[in-house]
Parts: sequence; structure tokens; C-alpha cells
Amino acid sequence: MKNTTSEPATSASQSTQPINNQEKILTGDRATGALHLGHFVGSLQQRMQLQHQFAQTILVADMQGLTDNGHNPKKVSSNILNVVADYLAVGIDPLKTTICLQSALPALAELTMYYANLVSIARLERNPTVKTEINSKSFGRSIPAGFLTYPISQAADITAFRATLVPVGEDQLPMLEQTNEIVRRLNTIAQQDILLECKPLLSKVSRLPSVDGKSKMSKSMGNTIMLGSSQKDISKAVKSMYTDANHLRVSDPGQVAGNVVFTYLDAFHQDEDYIADLKAHYSAGGLGDGTVKKILEECLQDLLAPIRVRRATLTSDPSQLIAILKQGTERSQDETNDVLAQVKNAFGLNLF
Ligand code: ATP
Ligand code: MG
Repeated sequence: MKNTTSEPATSASQSTQPINNQEKILTGDRATGALHLGHFVGSLQQRMQLQHQFAQTILVADMQGLTDNGHNPKKVSSNILNVVADYLAVGIDPLKTTICLQSALPALAELTMYYANLVSIARLERNPTVKTEINSKSFGRSIPAGFLTYPISQAADITAFRATLVPVGEDQLPMLEQTNEIVRRLNTIAQQDILLECKPLLSKVSRLPSVDGKSKMSKSMGNTIMLGSSQKDISKAVKSMYTDANHLRVSDPGQVAGNVVFTYLDAFHQDEDYIADLKAHYSAGGLGDGTVKKILEECLQDLLAPIRVRRATLTSDPSQLIAILKQGTERSQDETNDVLAQVKNAFGLNLF
């Protein structure tokens, strides 16, 4: 199997630009649900590797989770520790990576308010990821103001930690562009480079599709295979996977492109040559969907079984998870307050 927790193989060299030892990493996840396979290949594997080389902070974005869950805040509060448990279960080491909580770092909310004055509504509405999300959530004119402006809050998160490198999935690229626009505007106002621009770090699989192949695997869409999924749920999900609608008989030639089972085999199976042979066989005909799904299921069961066990142990003691999150958050207060002070200073708001 490719890229297991013990051997994170996704290379930092997949950055769009060269990486040096001085990079500071910031990433995060909305506390809107337990983490899934998309997070694993899109970002968690990179983080496991990067934590050995760089200063890395991971933010549990609970405030951002509220931007489309204001009516149902329990969804967010009840998932904070789930996300922390997932980090630890896959191999994020809290001694190497600072794990902190967005809502407990007031500087992040304050920075968001200052940056909001540098961004127009028209610019926010042009953000392609936000546009897609607004459509899929059918907000219409009832879109919460917090949701439309969440890219500003992400800019606050990234800049508050002076992050220069951000391991993300493809959907986050427009957020980083907007962040860098804010950075340039603020630096122009300050007449010095008080904020740093950031670069994305994309993994090889930067957009894992949902099991039905219709959209990105997302917590909010309820289309996920979670890292803590039971054996039975994994099996059910693989069995329901979209393949090739025209591959009716085993002897028929099958289509690999757009076939979710092969997309997942590419993402998770370690033996590339074996998968290449499998694809050739499927394309030529004579290989059934059931056989290919069995291979994928075995691969995912092997990957997720040890994570499930570690996760169960971790969630059985929430006080340990809270302590780790609290420590990381406390460690981050000075750093984020310092950036806030500089930004206020740039606006001349420094009387006392
Ligand atoms: P939500 O539906 O609440 O937005 P999500 O599943 O999209 O949740 P996020 O917390 O928004 O997850 O994303 C956290 C990180 O994981 C981001 O860097 C994002 O790009 C990455 N990510 C999320 N889903 C995928 C996916 N399907 N493939 C690759 N990367 C992903
Ligand atoms: Mg998302």
C-alpha cells in the first residue's frame, strides 16, 4: 500500500516552489466532522512528513466551522476532539507539531476584522471555491456573512502564524491567492513587509472524489470514508463505488478514466506496476468490477485498521486530547498577538 502512516511518502518536493529550512507551516481543518480519506491523501500525509523538518502548526478551525453551521453549533463543538483524535491517530506528533484551537486565539478574530477592510464583496464573490460551496449549499441571498468572508479569516490564520508554506487540497488554492492579496495590501499600507506571502504545497492527490464520483469528498456533504470508519462501513462504501456504467459483463472492455475505484487505487495502493497491469487488464476486458473492488477494499482495510484502533484508544480519554489542544493553543498566544499588534500599528491604532 502506498503512503502508509509509518512511511509518509508524499514528497515535500511537490511544492510549486523550492522549499528551504526556514519555512513555517500552517494548515488546518474545519471542525465540522471527523476526518476522511481526502484529508489523508490531500494534506495529513504531507504534515506527517513536514513535522520532522519544519516548524508546523495545525489549527482546528472551529470558528470557521460555524460559518455554515450557526444554526447547529453542536455539529462544530462536538467535532473538535474528533479532529484532534484523527491527527494523533494518523501520526501527527504533538511534540513536533503545535495543535491549537482557532476560537481560543482572539488575535485571529481581531485580524479578520482588520483585513475585512481590505477586501471587497465583489472579490469575495469571485472566489471559485466559495462560489461552488454557495451553490451546493443552496444559500441564495441567505448566505451567512461569515461564510462569504471565511477566506478573510483564513488569511488571518495563515498570517498570524507567519506561515510561508501551506499544505492543502486543490480547493484551497483560491484562499491562498486571496491571502497573498491581503498581505500585499497590508504591507503597502505599512510601507514595510510586516506580513509574509505564502505558497501552497499540493499533494499528488489534491482532490479525492467522493465514493459516487460526483463531487469532492467533504465532511459537509456526507459522502466520506472516515479515518475511523468501521470495517463494515469501509466494505459498504467500496461496494457502492462508481465504476464504469457501460462495463456490464466481465468480458466487456472497461473504462479506467473517471472510474472511482481506480482513482482510489492510484491514491492508496503501494504497487504502481501492479495497478498499471490491473488497468490494462480492465481496459482490455475480462476483469470484473467485483474483483477490482475487492483489491481496493483490502488495501483500505489495511490502511485504516491501525488508525481505527489508535483512534478508539485516544477518544476513550478526552482529557488527554483537551490537554494537548490547550497546550498548543497557549503556546500560540504570544506569536499571534505579536502579529496583531503589528497590523494594528500599520493602521495607526497604537495609542496604548
Ligand atoms: P467541509 O465539508 O466542512 O468544508 P472538508 O471535508 O472540505 O470539510 P476541510 O476542513 O474544509 O474539509 O479541509 C481541510 C483540508 O483538507 C484542506 O486543506 C482541504 O483542501 C483538504 N481536503 C478536504 N477534502 C479533500 C479531498 N477530498 N481531497 C483532498 N484534499 C481535501
Ligand atoms: Mg472544505
